[in-house]
This record gives sequence, C-alpha cells and structure tokens, in this order.
Amino acid sequence: IQRLEESVVNRIAAGEVIQRPVSAVKELVENSLDADSSSISVVVKDGGLKLIQVSDDGHGIRREDLPILCERHTTSKLTKFEDLFSLSSMGFRGEALASMTYVAHVTVTTITKGQIHGYRVSYRDGVMEHEPKACAAVKGTQIMVENLFYNMIARRKTLQNSADDYGKIVDLLSRMAIHYNNVSFSCRKHGAVKADVHSVSRLDSIRSVYGVSVAKNLMKVEVSSCDSSGCTFDMEGFISNSNYVAKKTILVLFINDRLVECSALKRAIEIVYAATLPKASKPFVYMSINLPREHVDINIHPTKKEVSLLNQEIIIEMIQSEVEVKLRNANDTRTFQEQKVEYIQSTLTSQKSDSPVSQKPSGQKTQKVPVNKMVRTDSSDPAGRLHAFLQPKPQSLPDKVSSLSVVRSSVRQRRNPKETADLSSVQELIAGVDSCCHPGMLETVRNCTYVGMADDVFALVQYNTHLYLANVVNLSKELMYQQTLRRFAHFNAIQLSDPAPLSELILLALKEEDLDPGNDTKDDLKERIAEMNTELLKEKAEMLEEYFSVHIDSSANLSRLPVILDQYTPDMDRVPEFLLCLGNDVEWEDEKSCFQGVSAAIGNFYAMHPPLLPNPSGDGIQFYSKNLDQDLLSDAENAWAQREWSIQHVLFPSMRLFLKPPASMASNGTFVKVASLEKLYKIFERC
Ligand code: ADP
Ligand code: MG
Repeated sequence: IQRLEESVVNRIAAGEVIQRPVSAVKELVENSLDADSSSISVVVKDGGLKLIQVSDDGHGIRREDLPILCERHTTSKLTKFEDLFSLSSMGFRGEALASMTYVAHVTVTTITKGQIHGYRVSYRDGVMEHEPKACAAVKGTQIMVENLFYNMIARRKTLQNSADDYGKIVDLLSRMAIHYNNVSFSCRKHGAVKADVHSVSRLDSIRSVYGVSVAKNLMKVEVSSCDSSGCTFDMEGFISNSNYVAKKTILVLFINDRLVECSALKRAIEIVYAATLPKASKPFVYMSINLPREHVDINIHPTKKEVSLLNQEIIIEMIQSEVEVKLRNANDTRTFQEQKVEYIQSTLTSQKSDSPVSQKPSGQKTQKVPVNKMVRTDSSDPAGRLHAFLQPKPQSLPDKVSSLSVVRSSVRQRRNPKETADLSSVQELIAGVDSCCHPGMLETVRNCTYVGMADDVFALVQYNTHLYLANVVNLSKELMYQQTLRRFAHFNAIQLSDPAPLSELILLALKEEDLDPGNDTKDDLKERIAEMNTELLKEKAEMLEEYFSVHIDSSANLSRLPVILDQYTPDMDRVPEFLLCLGNDVEWEDEKSCFQGVSAAIGNFYAMHPPLLPNPSGDGIQFYSKNLDQDLLSDAENAWAQREWSIQHVLFPSMRLFLKPPASMASNGTFVKVASLEKLYKIFERC
C-alpha cells in the first residue's frame, strides 16, 4: 500500500466536482450569483474544453483573499459547521475553484468596490502562479478556465464532442435565466456576435428559450404550506396545459434558488399528467420551491445536483394534487373530457336502451381521489376505459358492425327446441367444465373491467387495484366452447346469404396450410382429401344440424351456422379452416369425444382471433402502403374495429356472465398479472 501523492488525490477529487464543462460553468455562475451580480455573461470555446469565461458585475474579490482563493476548502461563506444549516449562498464547500485549478488553467481578474484598479492572477494546482498583477478592470469578476482536463486525457477524449456540451451549457443558463429573472444572463460561443441566451422577464425567457408554443400554453401554479408539524414550504411556477404536446418532460426546478434535480418530483408530476390529460403528452414545468434551509440536504451529491428534502413525500403529494387541480380546472381540459363521456354513453344507450348504465358523467365527479388510489371499481362504468380517451370517429361503430356482417350473412332468429339436450355425454362435459373452474379466476373474470387492447391478442383488464393481461383468443375460445356445450341442440341459426360448397372450402384450407404452393403432384392428393372430408361431413350432416345447427344441404353446401353468443357472428374467413378441422380432428366414433371435438372446433372458429388482414393501425400499415389497395385497407379497418367492438361489448360482458375459467388458464399465460397499482405507484415514485 502506498500513499497517493496529494496532487493525484486532488485531481481525482477535482474530476468528481467538475465532471464536464457544464459543471464548471454551473459553479462559476453560482459564484457570480453569490456575489450579488445582476448581469452574468458566459463565453465558451470548443464546448468549454478550450475556454470557459464567466464575467459578472458582483462585489469582486479582495486583494488579500487572492492567494488562498483557489485552495481547497477556502470559502467566504461558511466559518463553522453550524453555519451549514442557515446558509443562503449556493457555494460553501470552497471546492469549486480549487478543483478547476487541478484540471485546467484558471485566470481571475477582479476589482472590489472603491478600488481604482483591479488585479489579475493565474492559478495552477490550487496555488497562485505569480503575485497578482495590477490591471484595468470593470466592476466585478471575470474568471477564465482554459484547457479543461488538459491533464486527464481519457476524460478529454470522451468529451471531444464539443457541440454537445455547448448545448448543455445553453440549457443550464436558460434554466438559470428563467429563475433569476432579476439577473440578466447571456451566453455565446467565442467569436460569435449573437448570444444564444439573452434573458429579460421570466415568461420572456421561457418564450425565447423554449419557444412560443411552450410559453403560450403555460399556467401558473402556486402552493404553500405552513404546518406546525414542520412541513413548511412554498412553491410557485408554471406548468404546461393540455394543448402543449411534447415527448420529453422538461422540469426546471429550483429549490431555495438552487438549480437542482429531483427525480421523485419529476415522476410524480409525470404521473399526474398521464392520469389527467387525455393526450399522452409530457409536461413542461418550471418550479421554484422555497423551504427552510435546514430542511434541504444538498450535500448528498458531490455536484449538489440531486437534493433530498425533509418531508419530501408530503411536499411532493401536495404539489402533485395542486398540479392535478390546475389541470382539471383548466377550461379546455374539462370540456374535452365531458365530450368524451357523452360520446361513450350515447353509443352505449343507443345500443342497448335497457342497459343499467350509470348516467353520471365521470367528468363531473366532485369527490377527489388521489391519482394513485384511483381504481376502476365499477365494471359497468365505461368512463374509465381507454375508449374514453379516444377521439370519436365520425362514423359510429354500431353502424359499421351491422354493415359489415350483413354483407356475408343475415341472422335468422329461429328456435329449435329439441328434447335431446339431456344426452348424458354432454352433461358430463358440462360437469367437467364446472369442476375444472378456478374459483379465484372466476371472481376476477366476474368483476374485472376491460381497459383496452394492449396488442393484437392481449387485452388489459383491471380487477381491484391489479392489472392483468388477458389473452382474448384463449378466453373467447374457451367461452365459445363452453357456450356450445350449454346451448347444445338449442341454437339459433345464422343463415348464410350464399351457401358455400364444402369441397372447395376444404381444398382452400388445405392449400392455405401448405407452405409449399405450386407443388402439383400434391394437388391431386389434396383434392382427394377434400373429397373424402366432404363425404364424411355429408354423412354427419344430420347430426351436425340437429345438435349444433351446422347445416349442410343436400348438394354439400354449408348454409347455416349456430349463434353461440347473441350479437356475434364469427369471422367468415375462417370457415375453410373450421370445415377442415371438423373433417380431420373430430373423433366421430365415441359420442362424448365427438361432441367435445365438434364443440372445440366451433369454439376455435368463433374465437376472436386477430383478423387475417394485417392490423392497419399497427405495423400492418406497411402492407397496405405497398399494395395501395384502398378497399382492402378499409376492409381491414372495419374488421379490426368490429373485433375490438365485439371484444368490449360482447366478449367481456358474456364472460362475466357465463365463463367458468379452467384452472389451466392461471398458468398457461391466458391471465397474467402485470402490476398492482399500489406497487407500481411506489416504484414510479422511487425511481
Ligand atoms: P464556495 O463557492 O463553495 O465558497 P468556491 O471555490 O466556488 O467555493 O469559491 C471560493 C470563494 O471565492 C467563494 O467563497 C467566494 O468568496 C470567492 N469567489 C469565487 N467566485 C467569485 C466571484 N465571481 N465574485 C466574488 N467572489 C467570488
Ligand atoms: Mg462556489
């Protein structure tokens, strides 16, 4: 073990305080602010690596302080430990200037009040390189930092991208300019005439730095608390409203006039925006929080960037709810939300006029619930669904639904009450369904709320404070299977407008299954298989008709299908697959297996698979832009819209009533818990 040389220790420490050019600028500007400056200008060359020059009009540095100015732990702001708790300056560690002299060449020019001339002196490794020289000077101090990291080759290399750091410096000064609106800031590149930051009033500086679109969409927020239990603070600032759209959150945060970061607060605000505004926009927020000095621990980070506060959770919660109130009260936001709610209700009531939908528009809920405890508890209240946030399409959905299904089929309500439903094998199958039912999942399915589709297959559902991903295909398949058994021999029928020839459909299915088309030798074989399957189904036609309402007429055409769930017709594109499956997969000899097989085939056919046409609102759009087929595109749009409508309005309501979820669904990925709200909220808050 060897003792490191002091200069090495100092350089390492310096590298921690001054991490990049922008950290040096921040320290220097803070010093200028501490010196009561009213004007601060910054000049930067090579992203700060070649030169950083900060000039202010502050009180200056006395001649007798210059020799120790750049030694470590020399400061004019702190004399004893207790002072730490009542400090109002930004610096106090006496490390910044010292650090800079270990990793750069620092030259200071300064003049104090009442002096006729100033002094200039250069430093290296904490000490003066020469006696201060008298020179002409304007009021205040100018500090030049040249060749930053000249002795830290690796650091210099990683920082070569100078444009990048200049941006950071401009960003820093912009933020400073917003907050210290009684100090004028300017920042320019060396040799440039025009400054990139030039500040006047607070809103003016926001406008000039972040643009008109930000400035005109800001609302003022204020909150303060003077609590005897010790939670004392006041906050004022600007937050963006619902018209502002951005992908990234900008939080300009000052705590006791110090530019800091506080990720907990940032997350908290983001959550409020996400939960309150319909558009998925990230906010712009400027906030200045003032609290008793002794409540801030600025020491947790060497660069003093991330702070922690006493009573942080309470403060954040108060700010959060203030922001929420502001957002909800903003006029444009409110009308926007109410429109959505009305839309949802009118479609619902026109669809089912007798449905017991709550008439209370949720936009008018007066009772306030904190966002992290908001739960969609009422599974029949549609206002909590994602749909509430979507723009209504000019064409109303129920219309689409009817126009689409009418093309291929018309529904004929017909009862065929046969006395056969007491066949013991069907009763056994139903008993099997009942005995496999998982009680916990049954509870979930009965009381869950549909939130929206997460992708083509999974729906997001909420049960109490838990979120689940539910595989719609598996769920609907099982539901259709169970309903087929329950309605056994008592189906209403769907009459096909054009009877479809079995052998052609089966052949189609066989060709679709074949991955190697154009293989002529096999085509013969396929035709033979199709022929055989058609013969088989013709043979079973009577039974299929009597028990399942699958009607095959005398010339081997499929002409009727059963209604498994009212208001729902299956995707006719899947008829070929269904017929092939009936022919191939059903075990006709054993009564129970036969009924099970046919029910499973029907279940699979009626399940809410993703439509065969690619989803035009996802990646699938590329498919249509390549083919430029407008009809196909609108077909696809209809098919996907209809499916989503059916999932929400047919599948989920029927599932709540009829589905007995088998235990296997708990483990096969059909129902996956993705989050519990309380935990999620905790995580968001922490990270
Ligand atoms: P700290 O700011 O933590 O005290 P610094 O190393 O940043 O430590 O600065 C050391 C001291 O130099 C400060 O306490 C202050 O007295 C003096 N000083 C630095 N910059 C300026 C300035 N621009 N104007 C007046 N005094 C300054
Ligand atoms: Mg300082």
